[in-house]
Amino acid sequence: MSIKTIKQLQQGLADGAFSSVEITRDYLDKIAARNDNINAFITVTDEQAMAQAAAADAQIAAGTACALTGIPLAHKDIFCTDGVLTTCGSRMLENFKAPYNANVIEQFNAENAVMLGKTNMDEFAMGSSNESSFYGPVKNPWALDSVPGGSSGGSAAAIAAGMTPAATGTDTGGSIRQPAAFCGVTGLKPTYGRVSRYGMIAYASSLDQGGPMAHTAEDCAILLQAMAGFDQRDSTSMQRDVPDYSATLKQDLSGLKIGLPKEYFAEGLNSDVAQCIDDAMAEYKKLGAEVKEVSLPNSKIAIPAYYVVAMAECSSNLSRFDGVRFGHRCDDPKDLEDLYKRSRGEGFGDEVKRRILIGAYALSAGYYDAFYLKAQKLRRLISQDFAQAFDEVDIIAGPTTPEVAFKTGEKTADPISMYLQDIYTISVNLAGLPGMSVPAGFVDGKPVGLQLIGNYFEESRLLNAAHQFQQATDWHLQQAEVK
Ligand code: GLN
Repeated sequence: MSIKTIKQLQQGLADGAFSSVEITRDYLDKIAARNDNINAFITVTDEQAMAQAAAADAQIAAGTACALTGIPLAHKDIFCTDGVLTTCGSRMLENFKAPYNANVIEQFNAENAVMLGKTNMDEFAMGSSNESSFYGPVKNPWALDSVPGGSSGGSAAAIAAGMTPAATGTDTGGSIRQPAAFCGVTGLKPTYGRVSRYGMIAYASSLDQGGPMAHTAEDCAILLQAMAGFDQRDSTSMQRDVPDYSATLKQDLSGLKIGLPKEYFAEGLNSDVAQCIDDAMAEYKKLGAEVKEVSLPNSKIAIPAYYVVAMAECSSNLSRFDGVRFGHRCDDPKDLEDLYKRSRGEGFGDEVKRRILIGAYALSAGYYDAFYLKAQKLRRLISQDFAQAFDEVDIIAGPTTPEVAFKTGEKTADPISMYLQDIYTISVNLAGLPGMSVPAGFVDGKPVGLQLIGNYFEESRLLNAAHQFQQATDWHLQQAEVK
């Protein structure tokens, strides 16, 4: 079967070309055939999916369907799903059945979308390769010896392997955009505050944001429509109207000003990846855009600033996993201290422990000013760089990642080299801006991602620019051969 987009599935359901039960069965069959190999899903919710599909078909027949009624989707295992295992990729939550739905899941349920299952991820969303999952690494459908990116690697790989038409992800420092780039799919990290974080297990609360992953920008627009909006249960959710994201996709790009940050094309960027970005810019010029150089002078401090802020916040957020209220509990604790130590020692993997330790250190008395406060100041400088660039241009473009998907195991021994993967994505989270990754070519048979960064709440502009690019190119329609 060739790629099916949500748009095509919507059309087919509306025309009666197929039913939701049929397409849901088809995706579940693909998951059954391919998941042993790809490991993209931690949980497959077969029965629930088939029941939802049948209910959706009834709704379609009754003429009361919404945009996503009957559309199969997969959700990153960081979103709480009522009564369904929600592990966050960790042993800590190995038996955790969430007692409620995340806001994002509620939004999809309200439209009667179908949930196929929960996707694999780096433990507590900490990683860039999906190798830190307690449930084993995910394979990249384009090259089985390579990583799918992380932390939303299960979602990206599931789409690339044809196991779902689309999925949700979360992005704290690049976890939607980087796996989208590595797997040749389209991903959007919305502006901080656009999508509710309620029921999305927290990693670094001032950076975390949920968003859509799909084959096309058009599908991301459809998904974002359901996900975006104010939610009073998330104190950082923005009270702001949600525009019609699909309505502006076809706008002409003439006069659009695109800025290429010169710092993104310096040392460390693979020259073949750079060539793909150049080619994409040539395409944008044909579409009428103006491309010019801009500068984000503080780009080099983004990684140290991010890894202090993210680790500090994670050490605080993960303190709730103490073996008392929920999560893994060790056997036969001697006393309370032993319970805490062994439950957390057994429940968390190495990368999570490393981050909790560094974060607790950075927040400790005497070090707070030297590390956390300083990182917050650097964060302000990074936001100011973007503000200045957006005085000159409408969109900032560049590579999503410095190289294509690396081999499994290649960077696990050297965490710093892994952290450097996020060099182009994390400043977007530090500033709270929206960013996308769009397929833009191949190097050594592996996909390349073009990153588009917008000003606050300009998701429509990003989706429009990505959609127009996808009308002129077919990188997003290429399909990995998966058996
Ligand atoms: N790779 C980054 C990290 O490990 C980003 C992860 C994310 O966006 N969740 O923190």
